[in-house]
Amino acid sequence: MPAILRHIVRDIADVIWPDTCLGCGQRLLSESEQLVCSDCLMNIAKVDFYKHEENLVTDEFFRESIKIEYGCCYMQFKKGDWTQNLMHNIKYFRHPDLGIKLGRMAAHELKKYGRFADVNFILPVPMHKDKIKIRGFNQAERIAYGMSQILNIPIREDILEKTVNSKTQTYMNRVERINNAHQIFAANRVGECAHCHFLIVDDVFTTGSTLLVCAQKLHEAMPECKVSVFALAKA
Ligand SMILES: [Zn+2]
Repeated sequence: MPAILRHIVRDIADVIWPDTCLGCGQRLLSESEQLVCSDCLMNIAKVDFYKHEENLVTDEFFRESIKIEYGCCYMQFKKGDWTQNLMHNIKYFRHPDLGIKLGRMAAHELKKYGRFADVNFILPVPMHKDKIKIRGFNQAERIAYGMSQILNIPIREDILEKTVNSKTQTYMNRVERINNAHQIFAANRVGECAHCHFLIVDDVFTTGSTLLVCAQKLHEAMPECKVSVFALAKA
């Protein structure tokens, strides 16, 4: 179904069936439930990476010899269940507000464990400007925005750049994804930020190729900077 048609169908559905949970589809029961029902929120399968100094994300960077201060994910993305609905609702069904909500939730948890406390700027993984025109927003930026509200860290979108409007990486293997990411992401040197600590934020961590390459590009552009990484969901 073409994107525009999908959006129209969704908008009509929103009118006919208002206020349903974006995770499980159940009707939201009260004013206090917004976007996601309390059952889904309570049962979010968190990955406990953020409780540990070393985890699957930091291991990936170690394996590729790319230096990071810290890295983690917040929830488990499971194909076919409601966590997939949540992520797809943010990305494909135009619910940027859900990205903000989950970004805020994750940040509360990260704050509890003192993660990213000395970060200077949050850098959402960029989306190509042509794609933003079609989708209307960058889901990584919306998640980052929610996090910035809780962590009190400003966002910058002038440092990382997506220079090529690439096709989806969904069907590529790990090596292909890394090679592809090298072609499509760039980092700009910004003099006053040369010694800053950046936190790169993405929506889903699959093989880690996007975060690995973005971190590498930052180190190349500003060798004195520090880099941390976060993805809302681990696929
Ligand atoms: Zn639900």
